[in-house]
Amino acid sequence: MTGSKPDLIVIGAGIVGLSSAYYIKKLNPDLDITVIDRAPTIAQGNTARSAAGFRDLFTSDINFELSHSTMQFFRDVQKKNKYDLGMKFVGYLFLMGKHDKRVEYMESLSKKTGVRFYDEKDLKSLDYLNLSPAGENSGIMNLPDIELAALGQNCGIIDPGLVCNFYYEELRKLGVSFSFNTDVQMVRLSPVKPLDYPGEPFLWQDKTISSLKTNKGELNGEQYLLATDVWTTGLTDPLGIDSHIRPKKRQVFQVSGDKIRDVVLSSPFTDERIFPFTILPKEGVYLRPAAQEKSFWVGVADDIGRDFSFSENPEAEDDFYNMSIYQIANSYFPILEGARVTAKWAGYYSYNTIDKTPFIFRSMNLVIATGTSGSGILKGDGIGRFTEAVFSGKDKVQLYNGSEIETSSLGVDYRMIDKEKIIL
Ligand SMILES: Cc1cc2nc3c(=O)[nH]c(=O)nc-3n(C[C@H](O)[C@H](O)[C@H](O)COP(=O)(O)OP(=O)(O)OC[C@H]3O[C@@H](n4cnc5c(N)ncnc54)[C@H](O)[C@@H]3O)c2cc1C
Repeated sequence: MTGSKPDLIVIGAGIVGLSSAYYIKKLNPDLDITVIDRAPTIAQGNTARSAAGFRDLFTSDINFELSHSTMQFFRDVQKKNKYDLGMKFVGYLFLMGKHDKRVEYMESLSKKTGVRFYDEKDLKSLDYLNLSPAGENSGIMNLPDIELAALGQNCGIIDPGLVCNFYYEELRKLGVSFSFNTDVQMVRLSPVKPLDYPGEPFLWQDKTISSLKTNKGELNGEQYLLATDVWTTGLTDPLGIDSHIRPKKRQVFQVSGDKIRDVVLSSPFTDERIFPFTILPKEGVYLRPAAQEKSFWVGVADDIGRDFSFSENPEAEDDFYNMSIYQIANSYFPILEGARVTAKWAGYYSYNTIDKTPFIFRSMNLVIATGTSGSGILKGDGIGRFTEAVFSGKDKVQLYNGSEIETSSLGVDYRMIDKEKIIL
């Protein structure tokens, strides 16, 4: 940083910080903006640890609009601008029993987006899939039979690194500066009119964020944007501002083997011919194709029993794969037997525990964009536009697909509570 006082300092160079900075700069070209991150480069936080799937299959209207418009934007960036985002329309395949509540969600979603249904007869032709996990374990584990499936046709997989690179390159072109290896240790609260008296700011003083204490010294900006995902709470708690989020650890296991290799690149569902991002009927265990490695990434958004503890360097747990995930996944996909875990990693969802939609709000000269609840990449463009609208004090945000949303609906005071029911 040059020592001058930028109009805006964005803290966090993940998908949320980058897309937000992009729309703020694009619509306010005169603003001097600096993006800082404690990592040595962009997209090193949870953006790098995701399962990198995209879908517009959400029950909450706002999640649907954010994801649907983001997918359209990304698709156009890749198709029209010819900027590769690694986007592959492999589909999201929900395997379900007839009484699964997701059947109803999918039927309702099929009225707004591409959803194709398959019955038991269609699925029987997939010889690697066990529709009816029989035997002793099935009883203990209470595994539902697969009786139908719904394929989200506009869904698929993407490369979050390439998405972030797209925004980063655009930001560089627009003249936004970056400062990496810059760790914010404290967000300083000060009086608007300081008296230089110990103990300020007092109750009766108007308050503002005056600076950031960092490993590189004090950084001053006119305004600040926190796009720090699960780390937001640590920065806002001392200010008395509630981040409204809690961390939940999430793990991904890359599983490889001869039988898996044959299946990953042979899907009858889409033109991509790649196995779809597949969600099992039990607990939402998913298999995500990793086409290049000819492997599956296997994961789950486990809930009860997964505590809210947080560590800086979370690790994927072998026992969790062997004793929990594998037991379900292998019952439906016996091709997993004998396969090896060839890579694994862990990160966190920044959960908005009330409705599982993001929180984007302003407090003083600080805007906070967090609570992506496990789907920040696939909503990344919509979130960026939303944050710009909040930053600029607009009542409404217009998304890429033309839909308009009240900016207050993801805020704190007048939030529209519309609980998301499809969390993966
Ligand atoms: C296992 C897993 C699977 C997932 N699967 C998907 C998926 O399939 N699809 C999807 O859309 N989403 C998925 N997600 C969620 C997605 O990864 C997040 O929603 C998204 O990455 C959040 O983006 P972000 O920019 O808010 O956070 P981050 O990418 O974490 O960025 C925050 C940045 O802030 C920086 N930072 C934090 N504190 C400070 C500080 N004090 N000073 C300076 N810099 C700081 C960090 O270094 C980081 O770069 C998954 C997440 C996990 C963990």
